[in-house]
Amino acid sequence: MSGQVSYSSEACKLPIYQFKKELVKAVKDNIFLVVTGETGSGKTTQLPQYLYHAGLSKGGKIVVTQPRRVAAITVAQRVSQEMGLRLGDEVGYQVRFDDCTSKNTMIKYVTDGCMLREILADPVLTQYSVVILDEAHERSLNTDILIGLLKKTKGASHGRSVPLKVVVMSATLETEKLSAFLGHCPVFSIPGRTFPVTEKFLNLIGPKDTESSLYIKEVVKVALDVHTNERAGDILVFLTGQSEIQKACDMLFQKAEAIDYRYDVNDSSVEGLLILPLYGAMPTDQQKQIFQPPPEGIRKCVVATNIAATSLTINGIKYIVDSGFVKQLNHSPRVGMDILEVVPISKSEAQQRAGRAGRTSAGKCFRIYSKDFWEKCMPEYTIPEIQRTSLTAVILTLKCLGVHDVIRFPYLDRPEERLILTALKQLYQYDAIDRRGQVTSLGKLMVEFPLHPGLTRALLKAAALECEDLMLPVAAMLSVENIFIRPGQPETQKEAEQKHRQIASEAGSCNDFAMLLNVFEKCKASDSPSAWCRENWIHWRAVKSALSVDTQLRVILHRLKQQGVIEKEKWDSNRSEVFRRCLCLGYFTNVARRSIGKSFCTMDGHGSTVHIHPSSVLFGMESQLDWVIFHDVLATSRMFVRTVCPIRYDWVKDLLPKLHEVDVYELSSVAREEVTEEEVAKWESREAAKRQAESSEDAS
Ligand code: ADP
Ligand code: MG
Repeated sequence: MSGQVSYSSEACKLPIYQFKKELVKAVKDNIFLVVTGETGSGKTTQLPQYLYHAGLSKGGKIVVTQPRRVAAITVAQRVSQEMGLRLGDEVGYQVRFDDCTSKNTMIKYVTDGCMLREILADPVLTQYSVVILDEAHERSLNTDILIGLLKKTKGASHGRSVPLKVVVMSATLETEKLSAFLGHCPVFSIPGRTFPVTEKFLNLIGPKDTESSLYIKEVVKVALDVHTNERAGDILVFLTGQSEIQKACDMLFQKAEAIDYRYDVNDSSVEGLLILPLYGAMPTDQQKQIFQPPPEGIRKCVVATNIAATSLTINGIKYIVDSGFVKQLNHSPRVGMDILEVVPISKSEAQQRAGRAGRTSAGKCFRIYSKDFWEKCMPEYTIPEIQRTSLTAVILTLKCLGVHDVIRFPYLDRPEERLILTALKQLYQYDAIDRRGQVTSLGKLMVEFPLHPGLTRALLKAAALECEDLMLPVAAMLSVENIFIRPGQPETQKEAEQKHRQIASEAGSCNDFAMLLNVFEKCKASDSPSAWCRENWIHWRAVKSALSVDTQLRVILHRLKQQGVIEKEKWDSNRSEVFRRCLCLGYFTNVARRSIGKSFCTMDGHGSTVHIHPSSVLFGMESQLDWVIFHDVLATSRMFVRTVCPIRYDWVKDLLPKLHEVDVYELSSVAREEVTEEEVAKWESREAAKRQAESSEDAS
């Protein structure tokens, strides 16, 4: 088989190609292997092909995990194209709510979240011969957990003919730590050439500017300067997220139109600028353009999120413009919630970004921030996600996998005990685990859904009350990227807002969840949903995904209903009220009450001050509100809550005490051990004996 395979000349030029044989051998000879190499050396696209052609997929599929959904899809597309196969056949991908594989699939790219769910269904991964955990340096929560889980199953071949091979791939230098963690397994380093990158600090952003959105404007200015002053070569701009990228692209576009190429541009071979956004939720056909070389004389300028730092490599980049910021989900102990915020990147991240300019020739990196900003605001390394976000869903998954002792689980970097306790507490509040830390029957149902536990709980309650038709679309709409288009120009923004308000008023009850439901239903009923969306400033693509998510959630729910595990209930209220009361069951952890003026105060014990985000239909109506629940928190100039719903105190009155009643110590003390009734009894008698001994000591 291997003798006849030929690789394209492009593929043969990649640094990894020379090590094809050795790599295959290393995978064959070891249970665990760490592979490292510069970004762009060919790890993600080539290694699975080598293993496939060497026959390693005969005993089962080769699966490659990616922390990012877009990366999984894009790379699968690329590999199927390189192999001359139709996507979804031998090469496919599977991400949450989108399965593009078939029974023929031998190389499968998946998100790490999907892989975690597969382990839940089949702990020994019978389907697979090789699991490649890619982008391990990224330290995503799910990849970290997968590494721990696979370490635990080492060598165990439960019902398998050949033991599972595990390859961990990483771009940067944490390889020693990875290897040590996996029992000092071998490390295969792919040497790569890199070219020097000149780094310049432009001092446009200083330590005082961490809270403002000034960086968008400055990044645009610098990109244009590069375009007019520097020699030919493509530009890669690092920004924070979809809305910032769209804003920057709009600004760039306007300014680029005013360039007179006879006088303004230094390099006479440069005759135009092609501006391309790159972020997670982009249509895939638009993404393809990113990788294509620009037409003769045109300079390509890609404005991207961190996805372009290591997950996707764009050829031809010579200039980097680094904003110095990234959008990150952080658990805020002060607020007691996960909040999405724009924060300075780490120094190692900045170096990785700069390195993207030196892949094929010498390059330049323009940092819009000052050296002072670098010293004072940027940490040395990025903190792994597991140490900074909510662990609720993951801890529930671990518990359902039979990992009862979630505190002593082999974490690559142990999360703070406080975060584990918070997760346990939240699971207890949602009734997913009991006081002894054991998964309840509700918890077992909750883990079936690829949703946040709170949302799942609301959905399950709605199903019990036979109003899932209201909740399923909402869960689906909350699971896809932003539905509403918010244009940058003031006039169009007004129009969009007006349309959105109109849909909201038609929704009957005025809240953001009902609004989502209304958009969903309008689209579903429309003869031409895409036209309806265009007219109403709604992202049709997002709604289309939501339609498919809705169907998939329905399938899971239907299966559970058939198993008879959802018990029917009845409440004495109208549907709209039942709907909002169900939401309360999932969101009573996110309750706020209006305090002074337009501000609200959270009721979770933290008493943080929050404001309703301008995108909410309730924005401007604050004075008429009292109690609300909200879906998430965005921290910009203020703490904003998004997707808001007014509720009555009565509906959460009995739930709120649960936020405070739980004794974290009790939950954690049982979590520390695999506890059985006898052990608890033993522990109690031991404690009693200790107390007695102490008191007799005191007495003496
Ligand atoms: P690594 O995983 O080591 O970072 P990759 O396997 O992702 O490297 O990339 C190897 C090469 O394949 C790079 O030169 C990259 O530009 C190219 N490549 C990857 N995906 C695509 C794509 N979708 N279109 C065009 N080229 C691609
Ligand atoms: Mg890669």
